[in-house]
Amino acid sequence: MILGIASGKGGTGKTTVACNLAAALECSVVLADCDVEEPNAHLFLKPHWDVVTPITLDVPVVDAQKCTLCGACQDLCQFKAIAVLPETVLTFHELCHSCGGCALVCPAEAISWGSRQIGERRTGRRGPIRVVNGTLRIGEAMAPPLIGAVRQAAADIPNCAVVLVDAPPGTSCPVVASLWGVDYVVLVTEPTPFGLNDLALAVAAVKKMGIPCGLVVNRCDVGDDRIHTFAHGENLPILLEIPFDRKVAEQYAQGHLLVDVFPEWKTMMQGLYKAVVRELERASSGASPKEWGAAPETREVSA
Ligand code: SF4
Ligand code: SF4
Repeated sequence: MILGIASGKGGTGKTTVACNLAAALECSVVLADCDVEEPNAHLFLKPHWDVVTPITLDVPVVDAQKCTLCGACQDLCQFKAIAVLPETVLTFHELCHSCGGCALVCPAEAISWGSRQIGERRTGRRGPIRVVNGTLRIGEAMAPPLIGAVRQAAADIPNCAVVLVDAPPGTSCPVVASLWGVDYVVLVTEPTPFGLNDLALAVAAVKKMGIPCGLVVNRCDVGDDRIHTFAHGENLPILLEIPFDRKVAEQYAQGHLLVDVFPEWKTMMQGLYKAVVRELERASSGASPKEWGAAPETREVSA
């Protein structure tokens, strides 16, 4: 199963859920941290890194001897990554999406390929958990290709029962790149007006991608019932509610995995996984979510 963990905004506890879920599952798990602008799952899982791979993009290189300055490459490029001037051709590699179109239309075969590094990918392990992440170079805008490289490395790990995809916060291109091909998305939110606004955007994006989703409501006791009303209206299951607990916040701030400190967190995360499996079974049988509300076995656990 490939399970996405996402949130409409940062700071909702998404990575907490992803890391503790990975540690609670008693099967072979890969955690793919796709928040390549700010990867932080490794701060909690503390993996031993085995392999570091530079990730590059192909970029065009123009041979001035062959170029006739015809302008076909500039006309084709939608990203303004290539400009034909009266006496030369300029390329702007930071804007290039490596589509290859300019080389295809060049009548003089003047374009060959170079490469530029956009970041690096790391793969490692913590006990039975395999961890993959990516780190985008500072100022680099091309997150989706690096996210694709992280997803590919996670998919290439053999004999893996569950892949957890920790998506970046928000609803932009990197989130979409992270969530393609996942079986189910757990959206982590909090019951505040800001939380609801961003959650609504995230739900709309995930539904547009055709992926079933459910909610985890973090700090469920600090806000109001708007999330429940929204979930009811959208026919979304609330898979788990997590009350605020100062002891938990302190352990989190120190970079500890909560399942290592609080046994009830392991039960809670396992309950979350079972709730997802139930939802997928319902979806495959054609039934809609049976009941709006938290799964009983997870709701009773307080952290
Ligand atoms: S590879 Fe595509 S994006 Fe890059 S310069 Fe050529 S046409 Fe533009
Ligand atoms: S399409 Fe080829 S020949 Fe024409 S301007 Fe671009 S690089 Fe030069």
